[in-house]
Parts: sequence; C-alpha cells; structure tokens
Amino acid sequence: MLLTLQHAIERDAADPLRALRAHFAVPRAAGGEPAVYLCGHSLGLMPRAARAQVDQVLDDWAQRAVLAHEHGHRPWITYHDALAAPTAELLGCRADEVAVMNSLSVNLQLMLASFYRPAGLRRCILIEAGAFPSDRYAVTTHLQWHGLEPGEALIELAPRAGEDCVREQDLEDLLARRGEEIALVLWPGVQYLTGQAFDLPRIARAAHDAGALAGFDLAHSVGNMPLPLRDTAADFAVWCSYKYLNAGPGATAGAFVHHRHFRSERPRLAGWWGHELATRFQMPQAFRAAHGAAGFQLSNQSVLAAAPLVTSLGLFREAGVQQLREKSVALTAAFEQLLRARVPEAHIITPREPAARGAQLSLRIGADAQRAHRVFQWLAAHGAICDWREPNIIRAAPAPLYNTYADVFTFVTRLEEALRSA
Ligand SMILES: *Cc1c(COP(=O)(O)O)cnc(C)c1O
Repeated sequence: MLLTLQHAIERDAADPLRALRAHFAVPRAAGGEPAVYLCGHSLGLMPRAARAQVDQVLDDWAQRAVLAHEHGHRPWITYHDALAAPTAELLGCRADEVAVMNSLSVNLQLMLASFYRPAGLRRCILIEAGAFPSDRYAVTTHLQWHGLEPGEALIELAPRAGEDCVREQDLEDLLARRGEEIALVLWPGVQYLTGQAFDLPRIARAAHDAGALAGFDLAHSVGNMPLPLRDTAADFAVWCSYKYLNAGPGATAGAFVHHRHFRSERPRLAGWWGHELATRFQMPQAFRAAHGAAGFQLSNQSVLAAAPLVTSLGLFREAGVQQLREKSVALTAAFEQLLRARVPEAHIITPREPAARGAQLSLRIGADAQRAHRVFQWLAAHGAICDWREPNIIRAAPAPLYNTYADVFTFVTRLEEALRSA
C-alpha cells in the first residue's frame, strides 16, 4: 500500500526511535517551517547537546588552561582514546583497532604510507573507476611518491556497460586474473554517488586470496549501517565523522588498523602522540609506538573538533545500531516505493536489495542535465534539502536517527512539484 501523509504520521507515532529526533537541530525553510533534511550523508544534523560538550572544552580552557590536559572534565590527553570504544561498536571491531584522529584524507594518506608497499611485480593499486576524488588523488600521489606511473600502476574497475553499480563478481574476476600485480585494493563501504553498499567480507577475501591487502573507505558507511570489520579481516579502514556520525563540519575522523598488524615492522609516518603514553612526556629520542591503532596518531588532538562526536556517539549507543538499521531499511524502502509510484521520471540508480544499500537513494533526473539542476534548485528553494552531483544525480538519504516517514512523504511531494515546474 502506498504511503499517504496519514500513514506516514501513524508510522512515525509508532516508531520506537521517534524520541531521538528532538535531540537534533533541524534547519528551517524560508517560510519558517522545519526543512525536510535528507542530507545526512553529506553533513549530519547537529545534536543539540553538542553545544554543551563544546562549551565544556571552552570552559576547561578558560578555567584550567594547560591543567585541563590532565584535569579537564574529560582530560584532553586521553579525550580521543575514550571515543575508540563507542566507534568500534559501529564498526564491529576491537576498540584498540580504532584511532579517532585527523581527517579522512589525512588518515588515508597515513594508512597508504604504511600499507602500500610495492615490491617486485606486485605494485598496482586497484580502485573503482568512480572513486571519490580525494581517494583517487591519495592513491595517485602515493604511486608517484614511489616513482610509479599512475597510468601503469593504477587499475580501475568500472561498472559493466549500461550499469551504474559495480558487481563484486567482476572485482573477484579481476583479482583472479591480475592478482599477482596488485598490492592493495582500496574500496568504499558505500559508494558515495550511487549509494551501493558492498559486501566487505567478500571483497577483503578476494583481495587476500590474491595476495593483496584490503583497505576500506567507510565515509558513507559508518553510522549508516552496522559494519562487520571483525569478520572482514580488512587491513585498514578510514572514515570521517561529519556525515552519518553528525559530529559537525571537519570533525575529527578515524582509522582502523587490524590487530594482526600491531606488531608488524611496517613503516609508519610517526608523531609524538603515537608514542606510548607511559613514556611520551619523558621526550625519548626513540619512537615506541603505543599499543594498537593509537600508535598511528601524530599530533596532540583537536579536542574542539571531537567534542560533538562525544555527544553523537552517545546517541548512537542509546538508539542501538541494529535498531537504527531496522528503521533505516524500512524508511528507505518506503521512500523508494513512493518514488517509483509517484515520480517514475526520477530513475533510482541505487541497488534495490536492502543489503546492497544504506539510507541513501541516488536519483538520475531525466536526460536533460540543465533541467535536472533546475529541479534540484527548486527543491532547495522550497525547503527540501538534498544534494547534487554532476552531471544529473540527486542524492537523498533519510537518516534513521532523526528523519521521519513524514519527511520522506513531503520530499517526494516536493519532487513531484519540482518536476512539474522545472
Ligand atoms: C566525504 C568523503 C571524503 C571526504 O574527505 P575529507 O578528508 O573528510 O574531506 C573522502 N572520501 C570519501 C569516499 C567521501 O565520501
């Protein structure tokens, strides 16, 4: 049965997670009413309590200054260490495999420094042809750093002709064919443009069977769906915290290092914050890595950029990652059903199977890219916030922490109107 506004309101009233929305600040549309915000895949909404969390850091700074490193409300020296455990719950891994630090692209560069070690014939990096630009720049510059030509050492896998999504089978076939040349597979958990969620254990297995390492970019996965890093045996992963994790613009990001690499002799780009804590402030000359992923930290951490993450991770714990996923699957299914019924012109390129997607649906709007862009602008002007990716893709994601069935209903109604007026 097709969702009506009345059904949407009833489903929201019956939602066991409905109280969470009040914890977030929802922007207003031009008319003063709350906007329909389906852009949590780009920048998650602000948890209201983040303000108090940031204020606490400012207060500690004002009242205790340097003493807050050890005597803050949450001492700054170990501020980020406490974020590893709740993050690990979202990733499905051990807390000591997580370092909350830096930003995503920086972490990717650091991980590549340790895990991309071309040797002999095995020199290539395999990425998807549609990789996010920063990921592409990172691997390309690493190849150059090692004196290799990206034209020769970068292998890209594209979807089959006429398809939008990459098949895991094709990745397995490529690895079976050219595995001996491949040192590293860098793959997204959820593809940023299409919203396709990949079978990460399967990809890691294929990489390892070929003798390559497997690294994942989880920018669009973490907080979007429960993750199985424990079962994937991935070598490393990186993510940011401002998308589904709602930690604010440029918030402190994270990296995962599998525990089998803790004792390895891999080189790393080190800084004093990665030195073991017990002797860090004795200022020793020789670097002794802290246990686990924490040993990959470089600098004393940006506490202000991590404070909202404390709040947000608390809300994830309260909600439960499985409950969030259940709501997310149902909410995105209702969104899809409405779109197919009411706006068939918006072609959904995201896979249909719930296991192969998260919250986001990506819509290709007709053949005329200029008209598609007018549709997007009309939506923005009428309080329906989503985002635009060239040449003609609108991405919209109902985030289960704060979005409602009413949001989804209103968005589709606006999209119908936008297509009529564009
Ligand atoms: C959002 C995103 C990034 C962003 O990188 P920053 O370093 O946080 O600016 C990188 N890679 C992917 C796949 C993304 O989706």
